[in-house]
Amino acid sequence: QLMQALVNLISNAVKFCNVPEGRIDIGAGVHHEHLEIAVCDNGVGIRPEDQSLIFEQFRQVVQPDHGRPPGSGLGLAITKRIIEYHGGRIGVESSPGQGATFKIILPIKQA
Ligand code: ADP
Repeated sequence: QLMQALVNLISNAVKFCNVPEGRIDIGAGVHHEHLEIAVCDNGVGIRPEDQSLIFEQFRQVVQPDHGRPPGSGLGLAITKRIIEYHGGRIGVESSPGQGATFKIILPIKQA
């Protein structure tokens, strides 16, 4: 399920990064008994008013220059459901035109 969540975030980063100079950074680390994973791209970014909407099913942001993006609008809704099912959180930080960073925080269970 974590793989599914990461594939969704990384394929969005590929889809929306700034071709031909697309850049995607992926980082992971453990902080305070939580796994933190960040997927960052240098693409179109997401306006503040759209940042919570995109986690809803079938939500897609129509860009003035690019129209409706390809896809079903389900990836982030599924990703959020997976992460929250496992007690984690997902969020996005973005400024329009300056890319987006999606961050997952998951608790690490002690054996
Ligand atoms: P899909 O499954 O169609 O890829 P998602 O639910 O993953 O849809 O994403 C919903 C919408 O959120 C996308 O259509 C796009 O408008 C926006 N979005 C998601 N990721 C990014 C990103 N990295 N940069 C810019 N917009 C994004």
